[in-house]
Amino acid sequence: MAELKLSESRDLTRIERIGAHSHIRGLGLDSALEPRAVSEGMVGQASARKAAGVILQMIKEGKIAGRAVLLAGQPGTGKTAIAMGMAKSLGQETPFAMMAGSELFSLEMSKTEALMQAFRKAIGVRIKEETEVIEGEVVEIQIDRPAVSGAASKTGKLTLKTTEMETVYDLGAKMIEALGKEKVQSGDVIVIDKASGKIIKLGRSFARSRDYDAMGPQTKFVQCPDGELQKRKEVVHSVTLHEIDVINSRTQGFLALFTGDTGEIRAEVREQIDTKVAEWREEGKAEIVPGVLFIDEVHMLDIECFSFLNRALENEMAPILVVATNRGITHIRGTNYKSPHGIPIDLLDRLLIISTQPFTEDEIRKILDIRCQEEDVEMSEDAKVLLTKIGVETSLRYAIHLITGAALVCQKRKGKLVEMEDISRVYQLFLDVKRSTQYLMEYQNQYMF
Ligand code: ATP
Repeated sequence: MAELKLSESRDLTRIERIGAHSHIRGLGLDSALEPRAVSEGMVGQASARKAAGVILQMIKEGKIAGRAVLLAGQPGTGKTAIAMGMAKSLGQETPFAMMAGSELFSLEMSKTEALMQAFRKAIGVRIKEETEVIEGEVVEIQIDRPAVSGAASKTGKLTLKTTEMETVYDLGAKMIEALGKEKVQSGDVIVIDKASGKIIKLGRSFARSRDYDAMGPQTKFVQCPDGELQKRKEVVHSVTLHEIDVINSRTQGFLALFTGDTGEIRAEVREQIDTKVAEWREEGKAEIVPGVLFIDEVHMLDIECFSFLNRALENEMAPILVVATNRGITHIRGTNYKSPHGIPIDLLDRLLIISTQPFTEDEIRKILDIRCQEEDVEMSEDAKVLLTKIGVETSLRYAIHLITGAALVCQKRKGKLVEMEDISRVYQLFLDVKRSTQYLMEYQNQYMF
């Protein structure tokens, strides 16, 4: 790894990865940490949101170190949404990474490597670039010196090559400053008094000979080369440690970020990156932005994973770990012991536990309203009532999924407003879990011999 590469990953963090939660913009709390009824895309779940807000306060005051959050509640009660709301409340650039415990066992890498990658996806690095950067397609810049009496050359010419970019940028910056522009183009010139460094003249397309005559030996004539030099404002790149890891791991490279096929990353690559990032931090060039790592189905982790988590929480760069489960007392995977939520006692000890409750009918309706808005779907009142009923009978997530399908069906029949008929059509097309299992049970005799 010769040099850390960063610029390529500039836009990656902006890719929206989690469509189902795109309406969540925060926890929807007021300044006293009280939950507003409907705010920042959040509905209901008042006490869980309030508790999450208190945890955010602890994070801001630096009092969370070594601890983590457990969200305990039934499926579809908004555990992921709360974890995401926490990340959003910490700032738009706060990374949010999510994984399910079960994923660890299906990846083509060791469990701890997968966890390590998840941790590093949730640690952001803000890299600041200096403000006075001039960019452009400059190949060379010329400094023409006026004739100096007695000197052999009449118009001595100094050519700076691209390898001397700093000087080129320096001159470009001077010209930009002198001309008071955002950029300078071919033909822009400045005449500088060498002794004082002051600008004596500036403008476009000087008639050379006349200007040479006007200039004494103490002046410097600078002309912008072909192409243009442009001034850039302060640029801040936000990347995650994982993105830096992948880009710099020789076997993977940049494209692996898109395919997700990152494979295992060698420990030494990570060490070098950590050292480099620490250097940047000391030089004030980079800042660490701890994000939120959300691990759903945490009861699926085994004892080896739990001890990894215990250790990882001690790291000074650790993200905020939020785990979730819907299990009560169950086996700790990889052992014969049972414990609450299938989590070993030493980790349980570090957890702040928040419980989520099933949504009321009214709350389901409000969430569906928000999702319709988010997906730009116009729906009739009747259809919304029906969809809410479906949400109550089946699950909130199932009802949310039907919105997209119903909108497509409506589009097909060239309708503008999603009606009850569209909802019932997709309700028949796609089964919810209850109907699907019922169907299988009714017909299982025909499947099994
Ligand atoms: P599981 O345990 O199955 O992972 P979950 O508890 O994480 O489920 P979510 O996936 O967060 O549940 O919620 C289901 C859907 O409802 C998501 O689209 C989510 O954004 C939305 N949602 C959940 N809670 C709220 C809320 N309080 N306000 C608005 N939308 C919510």
